[in-house]
Amino acid sequence: MPRLAPSARIDLHVHSTHSDGTQTPADVVGRARRAGLDVVALTDHDAVSGWQEADRAGQEQGVAVVPGLEMSCSAAGASVHLLGYFVDPDHADLRAELDRVRDSRDGRLRRMVERLASAGFSVSWEEVQAEAAAGASLGRPHIADVLVRRGRYPDRDAAFADVLHSSSPFHVAHYAPHPRRAVELVRAAGGAAVLAHPFASARGHAVPPEVLEDLVGAGLAGIEVEHRDHGPGDRERAAGLAARHGLLPTGSSDYHGAGKPNRLGEHTTPPRVLETLLEMTGGQLLGDSP
Ligand code: AMP
Ligand code: FE
Ligand code: FE
Ligand code: ZN
Repeated sequence: MPRLAPSARIDLHVHSTHSDGTQTPADVVGRARRAGLDVVALTDHDAVSGWQEADRAGQEQGVAVVPGLEMSCSAAGASVHLLGYFVDPDHADLRAELDRVRDSRDGRLRRMVERLASAGFSVSWEEVQAEAAAGASLGRPHIADVLVRRGRYPDRDAAFADVLHSSSPFHVAHYAPHPRRAVELVRAAGGAAVLAHPFASARGHAVPPEVLEDLVGAGLAGIEVEHRDHGPGDRERAAGLAARHGLLPTGSSDYHGAGKPNRLGEHTTPPRVLETLLEMTGGQLLGDSP
């Protein structure tokens, strides 16, 4: 079992062009190195296709890489994001579920593009697809990027505020499993599940208390505490839940490249927490050994 240095700097949640990050996995890993990180987890939405490139880049750049993903889930009308670490990417049920979510994402995004185009917005499905890596999981940020490129909005945030938010007439929902099922799938695939930014209410990610209890019962391993969408009260609450339920407290940047202001390593995870995740799963770090 690798022992991490007590001073190791670990960012457990970042995105690449395999979902809605704007930089390739190799680019993100290089930037992680330059940001002084020793370990970075690649956690694209509903996709594990970026791992190989991140592994290679980590070996070249001297960065350890945690293989991860962020599953889009839905419970009691709320959008819930569940991080999975060290899963077997070939686990049949997990793969089937991720394929189903990505297919549904494509269909819903096409419909959103149609609605926008009918209303006079200059955007096509081909352009939206071209915003991400082949086989990536596509989302609203890719529509935003086309509209920003066209000069319609200054940045993603403005596009979300105007037409892409979830109560917009242009919005179409996609299939998403209940987070309990996602926890079960992550565990069945040999991984550990961590609830992402549970109190990020401004982005519609406030997890109802009964859902959290349900996930703890299903074997949730951890909860994101240090995250920029958590205010001081949210962090206290998340840390309190971690202590009460024996959950591992994590911290991360939720970096999306140029898609969000989040900076790599702006929040980090204590080395003992990652060591526990490694021990629980028997997982292996990719990239360089720390
Ligand atoms: P989707 O997965 O298609 O439902 O889109 C949700 C994604 O959009 C999330 O993963 C966020 O990273 C991103 N997102 C949500 N709101 C904003 C915003 N205001 N600015 C930039 N990105 C956002
Ligand atoms: Fe995202
Ligand atoms: Fe998220
Ligand atoms: Zn994320």
